[in-house]
Amino acid sequence: MICPRCEQDYIVEARIKGNGSLIYICPECDATWLSSDEISSSNFFDYGTYMKSIGRSQLWDELEITGRI
Ligand SMILES: [Zn+2]
Repeated sequence: MICPRCEQDYIVEARIKGNGSLIYICPECDATWLSSDEISSSNFFDYGTYMKSIGRSQLWDELEITGRI
């Protein structure tokens, strides 16, 4: 799926290594969604802001990319 926010890259599914949860993220603009069913241009989180909110680093090292959707 092309990122609906920036339309520059494909959204990937990634696992947060620290807690095992899955997120969906655009590598280009860092738009983040918590569910693949909810991906739209109007309801994304900013990756850095989200990771900070759960007490984690915003480095991509925190993520294990598990697929492209
Ligand atoms: Zn994007």
